[in-house]
Amino acid sequence: MTELNSSAFGDGPKEHLQKELLQRHFGYSSYRGCQREVIDHVQAGRHAMVVMPTGMGKSLCYQIPALAMEADGRNLVLVLSPLVALMHDQVDSLVRRGIDAAYINSSLDRETRLQRYAAVAAGGYRLLYVTPERFRKDDFCEALSHRHVHLLAIDEAHCVSQWGHDFRPDYSRISDIRQQLGDPTTIALTATATAECRQDIDRQLGIDPNEIRLFHEGIDRPNLSIDVQPVFDEDEKIDVIVQTLDDPVYHGGSVIVYFSLIKTLERVSDQLMQRKISHVVYHGDLPRGKRRRIQDEFMTGDADIVLATPAFGMGVDKEDIRIVIHAETPGSIESYYQEIGRAGRDGKPSLCRWLYDQSDLMTQMQFIEWSNPDADFYGRVYTAIVEHPEPCRAFGLQWLNDRLQRVSRHDHRLATAIAMLDRHGVVAGPCEPECFDILTALPAYFTDDESLGEKKRRDQQRLYAMVQLAAEEGDRKEFLNRYFMGPDA
Ligand code: ADP
Repeated sequence: MTELNSSAFGDGPKEHLQKELLQRHFGYSSYRGCQREVIDHVQAGRHAMVVMPTGMGKSLCYQIPALAMEADGRNLVLVLSPLVALMHDQVDSLVRRGIDAAYINSSLDRETRLQRYAAVAAGGYRLLYVTPERFRKDDFCEALSHRHVHLLAIDEAHCVSQWGHDFRPDYSRISDIRQQLGDPTTIALTATATAECRQDIDRQLGIDPNEIRLFHEGIDRPNLSIDVQPVFDEDEKIDVIVQTLDDPVYHGGSVIVYFSLIKTLERVSDQLMQRKISHVVYHGDLPRGKRRRIQDEFMTGDADIVLATPAFGMGVDKEDIRIVIHAETPGSIESYYQEIGRAGRDGKPSLCRWLYDQSDLMTQMQFIEWSNPDADFYGRVYTAIVEHPEPCRAFGLQWLNDRLQRVSRHDHRLATAIAMLDRHGVVAGPCEPECFDILTALPAYFTDDESLGEKKRRDQQRLYAMVQLAAEEGDRKEFLNRYFMGPDA
């Protein structure tokens, strides 16, 4: 793969058109970082891999080409995205700007889905967002066969890496999908790809690595100051949180305090309330409507401080987040970097403080166990669904969970197993009742402790990298740079 960091560009008619589109549709006067180079590159029909921090504007790299291409009823920019919620947000914001975009995913009812298939076949939309799983559906492939995919964008491209927690098995079919689409120009985009992960992406795309140009913005965010404060117990944590919130340097903006466990979050919330520090809380046990309300309050600035689990953040694109505190140790540098990346998007000085208590590592080790069920557990889940379809449907996942395990209410092995079985197409969907529809025999992957164990080892290595980051005596930004860019960076 060749690498490009900068190049000189004139202001010819093509550049003029690009600027005009940027201004007219998005109201921005100039491109950021390497956006313009990427756009030129893909418009010349060449493949690109773009690694840019979250919030920098990756999507423009394929949205502008979609606006610049001739809308002849055949051309289409197809975006593969694994995250249904983000897809909705992106398409809503494009449609609000008057851009002809749509998504097709499992959240649509049948009628709307069929209408959208018909619109695709009839030449509608410049931009179409789908999940990779959509390619399993023949009627979708048929509709798409009427179109010419001018540019294929693969968002969150790190999901092709089978060692990541975000692995999507259907992403491993990308080279087949590209072939089916007639080998279109392809742009892969991600915020957090280590050198190893980038190699995985190259491999999965099925394109000669020399044919893909890497555009890497680097991972440095100069306005973020990163520190790690060792703490020995929860009281000390609370004291440091209170002191940090008081730091006048960072006044006037918003704050996220991240926790791994809801019970720690609730205890700290009680303590802050006693000290009259007003805040809101956000975690997965709250009802969906309430979570939405809290997120809105935070986004509009009605609430300055949110105590949250990692569930908070997707689609949180707020400019003035001044402080991100990790009150508990995250499970990987990838998640940590993603979370601190929400700070300081307006370029002003912002603080990322991680309160490192070694005993928190036990929590993450437990999470790794739960995220990596073994072959025996997969076998038991599969057999239980096959042998007890009626009670599964009548009493749901809670019944199945009680049947399979009684240790901890928060043991999420069943949720992991169902999500994985869905991603591999073994069950018909991730939720009840579809998750009880078995579609295929259990693939070899789930019966092989060797391959399941390899994934677990990788997760453990990621956690170990957090320990190394905490212990780093030199510049932690250098450490992060090496982690993502490779040892030669
Ligand atoms: P990413 O996918 O990298 O996380 P997005 O594409 O969602 O980022 O963009 C983040 C925000 O930055 C969006 O609100 C987007 O409109 C804005 N943005 C993108 N490019 C520019 C630009 N050149 N100038 C100003 N704002 C931009």
